Amino acid sequence: MLSITTKSVAETLALGRKIAPYLKKGDVIVLLGDLGAGKTLFVSGLLDFYNKKDEACSPTFTIVNEYDLKSDLKLFHFDVYRLESSDEFLAIGGDEFFEKGISVIEWGNRIADVLPKDALFINIEKSPDDINQRVFSFSSSGDKFNNLLKEVNLKWKF
Ligand code: ADP
Ligand code: MG
Repeated sequence: MLSITTKSVAETLALGRKIAPYLKKGDVIVLLGDLGAGKTLFVSGLLDFYNKKDEACSPTFTIVNEYDLKSDLKLFHFDVYRLESSDEFLAIGGDEFFEKGISVIEWGNRIADVLPKDALFINIEKSPDDINQRVFSFSSSGDKFNNLLKEVNLKWKF
């Protein structure tokens, strides 16, 4: 499993910027980790690659925020923490977004049964001995993200 440690907010933003160019329409990324782990900040890094970082805000109450990354590419930033069940996600048409752009889903394990077969999971953990350190652990279901994981592993340097 690929594991990357960031030592600051800036490094987490840089990690997001590094991964963003590998993401394509139809990709689903699930972000896991406690409150304050850095899930939303990582999304800011993804948006920063497209110069949209300053528009990033947490979709805790709206469930989904939509960003136009470029003319033919959207990013849907979900936070499903407040949903009771995956049925509720389906009821708001959540799964209909998946094919329309890149979907990044905070707390996506709560809707595990409606995620596509291929998904990239990023688990973010706080470090017990450094308040500015986070460990990002990557795993995926299916083969779709194998190349991304290989490339990020090879090219990850500050
Ligand atoms: P989440 O969306 O997982 O609840 P946020 O991204 O909203 O978390 O918040 C992460 C918090 O942790 C921010 O206040 C940020 O300043 C802080 N932080 C400290 N170090 C890091 C780091 N290395 N990566 C990400 N966030 C960090
Ligand atoms: Mg968040």
